[in-house]
Amino acid sequence: MIDLEEGKKRMDIDILIAGAGVVGCVAAERAASKGYKVLIVEKRNHIAGNCYDEFFNNGVLVHKYGPHYFRTNDENLLSYLSRFTDWIPGNYIVKSFIGGRLYPFPINLTTLEEFFHLPFLSPEDAKRLLSTKRIKYDVPKNSEEFVLSRVGDELYRAFYLGYTLKQWEKHPKELDASVCGRIPVRFNRDERYVDHKYQLMPKEGYTKMFERILEHNNICVLTSTPYQKIKTTLRPKIATVYCGPLDEYFDFCFGKLSWRSLRFEFKIEKQALVQPCVQINYPNDNSYTRTVEIKHVTRQIHPETVVSYEYHVNGEEPYYPVPTSDNKIIRMYENLAKKETLQNRVYFAGRLARYKYINMDEAF
Ligand code: UDP
Repeated sequence: MIDLEEGKKRMDIDILIAGAGVVGCVAAERAASKGYKVLIVEKRNHIAGNCYDEFFNNGVLVHKYGPHYFRTNDENLLSYLSRFTDWIPGNYIVKSFIGGRLYPFPINLTTLEEFFHLPFLSPEDAKRLLSTKRIKYDVPKNSEEFVLSRVGDELYRAFYLGYTLKQWEKHPKELDASVCGRIPVRFNRDERYVDHKYQLMPKEGYTKMFERILEHNNICVLTSTPYQKIKTTLRPKIATVYCGPLDEYFDFCFGKLSWRSLRFEFKIEKQALVQPCVQINYPNDNSYTRTVEIKHVTRQIHPETVVSYEYHVNGEEPYYPVPTSDNKIIRMYENLAKKETLQNRVYFAGRLARYKYINMDEAF
């Protein structure tokens, strides 16, 4: 790593990028490949943003900021990323712990059979069953109405209500329908968490993939360098791509936006695997929301494993924009951002700078 003065000396910067996460790294690579000189500043001491993975102190690869399940339907994206990594199949299976036992989640035929103690259900039986449970809303206005209109009250209370309260510290009534609407309900026995055509994991991990994305003579990376510290001294010739929190860019002039944060506890277990699948959700038990044993996905051969316990908290580190936050403040910041783009060619990109709940493949 080089320091800031050295960074400035080494290159006449065309494009300055704040943040070495998904958007920052790909923007840097795209610009560098077109001949522009790019400097990325990153406040953390590493690249790859929240996709960052590292070896825990027992040598097991972990996702430091929560599991990142790469999935996409976009062949072009896949072929672009395949220039920087090989892949292994993404073993993205999630179960939900309810009343002392594990159920496949998202809800599928097996979940319905086990939850309602019914023998073999055909897809038609299951549809009939749910049609007796559903509560009708013409247009569901929030996540509660959305789930009730899909699966009814018992499944809503068991699988969604407690989990959503823990994740957002908000009632599903207060959250947009799209929040719980992300989760499918299946009338087959597909146990994968998501439906996407390509569900893959970079073979050597995300950090390695991002290192390769940034391996270009036109790219210079400065870690442990907050953008706020250098913004007055470094002026790029062409543009700035800002990927940090929107409110922070403007020194919180309209107040803080609401962000939901995460806290992780990693625990070593002296056996190869302890969970039956990568993720277990706890809607109604424990104070953590879910446990993740990423080794199910990385398929690392190691005699030990590491399980991470995830707590959703209101912390300093911004993870999720809260989908009910005061729209007025967001609009005010967005208007300032538009002006900043026109006047100073600062482009706001990514989850933090756009205050949007963006999936990983949409960010690339
Ligand atoms: N959710 C739920 N029960 C679960 C998992 C998710 O009620 O077991 C709800 C929760 O409100 C969450 C939303 O569904 O915010 C979307 O879940 P997803 O796993 O896609 O959220 P992510 O962790 O990826 O943001």
